[in-house]
Amino acid sequence: MSASHLPLFAQVNRYFDKAAAYLDHPPGLLAQIKSCNSIYRIRFPLKRDDGTIEVMDGWRAQHSVHRLPTKGGIRFAPTVDEDEVMALAALMTYKCALTDVPFGGAKGAVRIDPKKYSLAELERVTRRYAYELFTRNMIGPGVDVPAPDYGTGAREMAWIVDTYAALSPSSIDALGSVTGKPVTQGGVRGRAEATGRGVYFALREACCYPEDMRPLGLQAGLGGKRVVVQGLGNVGYHAARFIQEGGGIIVGLAEREGAIYSAAGLDVEKVVEHRNRTGSILGFPRALDIAASRDALELECDVLVPAALENVITMENVDRLRARIIVEGANGPITADASERLLDKGTLLVPDIYANAGGVTVSYFEWVKNLSHLRFGRMEKRFQESSNERILLGVENLTGLRFTEDARGRATQAAGEEELVNSGLEETMVAAYNELRVIQAQRKVDLRTAAFINAIGKVALAYMQRGIFP
Ligand code: NAD
Repeated sequence: MSASHLPLFAQVNRYFDKAAAYLDHPPGLLAQIKSCNSIYRIRFPLKRDDGTIEVMDGWRAQHSVHRLPTKGGIRFAPTVDEDEVMALAALMTYKCALTDVPFGGAKGAVRIDPKKYSLAELERVTRRYAYELFTRNMIGPGVDVPAPDYGTGAREMAWIVDTYAALSPSSIDALGSVTGKPVTQGGVRGRAEATGRGVYFALREACCYPEDMRPLGLQAGLGGKRVVVQGLGNVGYHAARFIQEGGGIIVGLAEREGAIYSAAGLDVEKVVEHRNRTGSILGFPRALDIAASRDALELECDVLVPAALENVITMENVDRLRARIIVEGANGPITADASERLLDKGTLLVPDIYANAGGVTVSYFEWVKNLSHLRFGRMEKRFQESSNERILLGVENLTGLRFTEDARGRATQAAGEEELVNSGLEETMVAAYNELRVIQAQRKVDLRTAAFINAIGKVALAYMQRGIFP
């Protein structure tokens, strides 16, 4: 079997093995870290709107319980299978370790094409799936905390938290049973855009060192870099928006129905408005239509951000790619052997376990908010603002000068929840990148291997310091 057709979990484990070769942990410990601790397979009935009954397939994998709760999204997709769920759960373990999010890794899925079901049917599927997890103690604030993933969003998370709360009426921490909820239902400001914002921070960090850009023939800094983004969903849309705000030029955008290109740059908001209005990304004014969406991956650009699906860059198309930097917004968008080929070509790969970790980072903040029952910034915002005002008055008294109203407003304003969440996310992404860069330089490895070395090392440390039960 060609490596490009390896199942996703085997691909993840190939990266694991490559990194493990640099570590001197006992083989048994490495095997324990690598294995998926549990996988629960569910089959449950859905009563469709027309009265017929359909059997649904679902999974929940808990890859590593070295820390609890475990954490990972729920995917609704027509082709998902058990291997994919275990692979994605494994990626969650490493992602959490890399970003110092104190969770084990998990993932869930239902094999369903959401577009083919009514709203009421989707609600029944989501609630039944949550019920199935609840009855097996596979959901709860201290056990396993789902979140959105491909095909699910805040709406499904609201149904899940409502189901969990209905089944455990005396739990005061029920809100912490799932993250990615609407802000009005215990969500946290900044969560919806967190993964995309994190992708932007990852790219910004990757571009900011002249010595890293020079071998790619690029200048340092995101400004002016030509970027192609695949997928305009939760991750891709926000990533494209923040990259554009950060000075990148979005020259290409790809969706299911096709892709568009403009050397002068595409306005992401306007493209989304156009797609919402017409039902297609194609036909956007002054842009070139590309009928076969996948061809967008091969466009001339500096940066490619695959943010839709796994296995979109394979041995079949890898040699036609022209991007110098690839940031993995999606999980597993590059097959393991295509990844090696890109490294041989000198492409800078920013790996998924780092690049898209912004979502789980802010999910962690949401969970902390839910358990503390207090919005971030609520206690200190006013106090901080009046304290800032007193400092300004002191400066004015000493100097005899006056701040302008504008300068006064900016200097006194204290952070609310959204500012604090974004600050925590930026700090996490920058700190994690710095760790990867140090490992990369010390071990002379690519960023993905550095990321796995770091993640495995942190999980191993948890096992070694806490010991193995019993
Ligand atoms: P989503 O469902 O919100 O968006 C996916 C988008 O990709 C949709 O707009 C869809 O139409 C588009 N798409 C589907 N097939 C395509 C194709 N062939 N070509 C181009 N576009 C196509 O999903 P999402 O939450 O944005 O997740 C995307 C990826 O990011 C997944 O791999 C997911 O596991 C990963 N991820 C998501 C999060 C999160 O917080 N949502 C966090 C980490 C990683």
